Amino acid sequence: MELTRTIRVRLEPTPEQAFALARTVEANRQALDYVSRVAFERRIRNAIALQRIVYRTIRNLYGLRAQMACTVCRTVAAAYKGMKSNGNADTLAKFKHAKPVFQWNKDYVLRNDVAHITTLDGRLRIPCRVEPPYSRYLQDGWTFGAAELVQTRRGWFLRVSVSKTVPDPADDFDAVIGVDQGMRFLVTASCGNQAMFIRGGRVKQTRLHYVRLRASLQRKGTRSAKRRLKAIGRRESRFMADVNHQIAKAVVRFAQAQGQRPLIVLEDLTGSNLSVRFRMKDQYWRMSWAFRQLAEFIRYKAEEAGIAVVMVDPTNTSETCPKCGHCEPANRNRKRHLFRCMKCGFQCNDDLAASRVIAQKGLECLRQSQGA
Ligand SMILES: [Zn+2]
Repeated sequence: MELTRTIRVRLEPTPEQAFALARTVEANRQALDYVSRVAFERRIRNAIALQRIVYRTIRNLYGLRAQMACTVCRTVAAAYKGMKSNGNADTLAKFKHAKPVFQWNKDYVLRNDVAHITTLDGRLRIPCRVEPPYSRYLQDGWTFGAAELVQTRRGWFLRVSVSKTVPDPADDFDAVIGVDQGMRFLVTASCGNQAMFIRGGRVKQTRLHYVRLRASLQRKGTRSAKRRLKAIGRRESRFMADVNHQIAKAVVRFAQAQGQRPLIVLEDLTGSNLSVRFRMKDQYWRMSWAFRQLAEFIRYKAEEAGIAVVMVDPTNTSETCPKCGHCEPANRNRKRHLFRCMKCGFQCNDDLAASRVIAQKGLECLRQSQGA
């Protein structure tokens, strides 16, 4: 199985180096637009054919280095291919916010906290930092691929794609772990009679604090208040990401403790309406991405640990009886956090019941895909 991730590398260029980076971004963008026009007017959609025509020009006119000139042609060809498959073949592809792409070993390398990057002004040696949680990708045999150069309000970054081939997880599972995500417990993981609950209290408090802060700044409405609002938004995102990383680690540890070849079952929350799912009266829980992010982090860390993961449809998980399979909304008493089956009388904590149903769904899902 091939795993791919994107990691962020912070660059710390001198003012001169930053200028060279900015120049490279602009030249790359202009070259893309030029090549796009040529491809459009001459109806050339093949990267190699395109390169034959424009290569000299984009090197001379925009000063691009050899590798980047090739990358530009490939990018344009891919853009037209994508547009064609989307059904708009007769539109000029534009690259307003295009970012230069650097190829590992050819345009850039990272070595001992220094990024060696080929720009318009030659090879630069720019101090760089790989911050957690990305630093783990520097070890453990990850292969570095293409990198995108990005400038944000907080400075210059490389977005590097890394990949690694890991053995496929065994499919003779000796433990199946169902993971339910919620508000009272951010995570309820269970495997047979073993269970792990991660409380949401502290996170809820912190989020509430941010919400109040945001509300008071919004009332002010001044320009400096708006600036602070954005900063707070970023701080909150970092806080949530940090919490999610910790939780994801805990879930993977729990899974590893249950068996040699565990299977983790998660709900596939993409596309589902989280605000309905969680009956969100509380405005501050509306940042639904945090739930999706947590599921993603769990999947990532599990895959890297060689643990199989399956995603299941979240419909009705919290209203289905894990014992007899009877499904009705009255099974669940949300106020008392109690699950009691109206048919067979089975009862337990509602989140625990849901995690068990999720585990069962995971097994069911695998059985179907194996055609057994
Ligand atoms: Zn039942």
